[in-house]
Amino acid sequence: MSWSSIKTEGIVLTVVPVREADRAYNILTPTHGKLEIIGRGAQKGLAKLASHLEPFAVVDVEIIRGQHSTTVISVDRQFTFKKISNELSTRLLAQSSLILLNRYTHELTDDQASYQDLVDWLSFLNVGRDFSATRSTFLLGAFLLKLMKRSGYDVELVNCLACRNEIAPSDFRWHAGKGGLVCSDCVSADKEEWFTARNIEDDVIKLLRFARDSRYEDLIRLALSGVHMESFANMVHDLVSFHLPGRYDRPFWEGILADVELEFQPESV
Ligand SMILES: [Zn+2]
Repeated sequence: MSWSSIKTEGIVLTVVPVREADRAYNILTPTHGKLEIIGRGAQKGLAKLASHLEPFAVVDVEIIRGQHSTTVISVDRQFTFKKISNELSTRLLAQSSLILLNRYTHELTDDQASYQDLVDWLSFLNVGRDFSATRSTFLLGAFLLKLMKRSGYDVELVNCLACRNEIAPSDFRWHAGKGGLVCSDCVSADKEEWFTARNIEDDVIKLLRFARDSRYEDLIRLALSGVHMESFANMVHDLVSFHLPGRYDRPFWEGILADVELEFQPESV
């Protein structure tokens, strides 16, 4: 059995109580990917350790890898994204994003881009803005589209999935299972293959492209139409269901609602 300790920076994604007094933490690190680590209840100073391992912070952890589990032995808080907790809407949005990231990230995948993207995302949220439910849904959808792109499930929003020609406005259908757009010619040529392809408005495709490819700062400047946002949210949900492994029975926006019914009303920031 190896008892060598590892020191790494990380961000806590989720905290789950296990057994009576222990806690399991999922931590995303720049060097070791996602780690599941255990804080032992019998451990001296667990309360202090646990208080440093709250989410929305960059921490330095020292861990020991055992045969069956990884135990945390010390924690130092490097930086806290304090303003995220100032607004309920921002806190719910950040919390939801961490839960989703944890759900769709495998343990020990060494992926430095994921870590940097998470730092950028939390930094973006760390200004104490209050978001409407619609804006939060749009931002969380963008977070998922970017996560999919990073994971190699990039959605085809420019060329036809079948013939690869560039898609002309209003001359396409949408197929979530196959991951993007198909031109009308290809649909006509093979009706059976594209049987479940749906009609989607140009503006919704533009919204998907913009969400996936723009910086978060730019996403809060765009006025959102309620009708298009409903399509957008459903399309992101379908894409996640088809292309990201894991549990997907619940819509991704569920966690940002906080008992408030999501209303897709036209609004702008
Ligand atoms: Zn085509």
